[in-house]
Amino acid sequence: MPNTKAYAAYNAQDPLKPFDFDRRDVRPNDVQIEILFCGVCHSDIHQARDEWGGSIYPMVPGHEIVGRVIKTGEQVTKFKPGDIAGVGVLVDSCRVCKHCERDMENYCVEGMTGTYNSMERDGKTIAQGGYSTQIVVDEKYVLHVSDKLDLKAVAPLLCAGITTYSPLRYANVGKGTKVGVAGLGGLGHMGVKFAASFGAEVTMLSTSPNKEADAKRLGAHHFLLTSDEAQMKKYEGYFDVILNCVSANHSYEKYLNLLGLEGKMLVVGLPSENPQLSPFALITNRRSIVGSMIGGMKETQEMLDYCAEHNIVADVEVIKMQEINEAYARMLRGDVHYRFVIDLESLKK
Ligand code: NAP
Ligand code: ZN
Ligand code: ZN
Repeated sequence: MPNTKAYAAYNAQDPLKPFDFDRRDVRPNDVQIEILFCGVCHSDIHQARDEWGGSIYPMVPGHEIVGRVIKTGEQVTKFKPGDIAGVGVLVDSCRVCKHCERDMENYCVEGMTGTYNSMERDGKTIAQGGYSTQIVVDEKYVLHVSDKLDLKAVAPLLCAGITTYSPLRYANVGKGTKVGVAGLGGLGHMGVKFAASFGAEVTMLSTSPNKEADAKRLGAHHFLLTSDEAQMKKYEGYFDVILNCVSANHSYEKYLNLLGLEGKMLVVGLPSENPQLSPFALITNRRSIVGSMIGGMKETQEMLDYCAEHNIVADVEVIKMQEINEAYARMLRGDVHYRFVIDLESLKK
């Protein structure tokens, strides 16, 4: 059994600490991957700290994984040792329900198997994520990654990338669409890059005045400071689409009021408390709220291929595994530019 070094949350309060465990032996359809880089998603913090309830410990977070294939099972056809591969937010699903059949394993009727904080489908093993030296995953849930891109900057595409790409595509964002992206963090900065790349007019909706220059460098055409009442008034009814990437508890109404006729708020941010919402903010302009959870395997591969073709990657700050607790503290202060990525070399020494 492949012995694996990792960092884990042992409970909701304490800092993450070293943790050793065995991955399963490689099965006929499995790919064993040596992890090179793993992005740090705000969902890692929500779950390590049990902010959504039901967390399973010990928990090795991490679902933005890029690595090198080191071994394949005898029935594997898509990968060979040496290939660069990615693993995102899910590692299994039922494979036969009506959603799995439509390549939407992320919405599996039985519930997808998360990369961590989830039980494997045997019902006995805790799935453990990418803050670790290696992972073993069925090839159906492993993605091809172009080795032409900067791999540390590719890792965040596996969650932040697909989570913003999928709803923007679903909402048909393109030339002529006025898009607001709320929250300039890991998801938000990918949302800006994709919306701009699809040809939309993009406005950053942020609580941080010091992020204006970065927002524009990332591709935003305008910057709206959401604490400035006068600016908010000016943009009332302006947008066709708002991609809500906010991680902290907040009022939906503030953003809904910025939507024009039949405008849509695409919700991807997952604060722990229910949002404030008046039905009047919805009936005005016949607005709607649409939720979206990552993407299926086919769409995730499509997104990675789109990024390789258009040279899109995340803006990252590389950290050592041992610096993870400081990185969490900085993310909670909004001090992230714009994704922390762990170099797993730091755990192999
Ligand atoms: P992040 O990097 O920490 O960024 C969150 C951003 O939210 C911050 O940078 C900040 O941007 C903004 N923000 C923070 N507090 C705020 C407040 N009180 N009011 C308004 N804005 C505030 O987080 P992330 O990794 O991008 O994740 C964002 C959220 O998406 C998390 O809740 C995460 O769990 C969720 N998520 C969902 C999915 C899905 O499938 N739906 C997938 C991945 C993550 P400004 O400084 O610009 O205001
Ligand atoms: Zn994530
Ligand atoms: Zn299914």
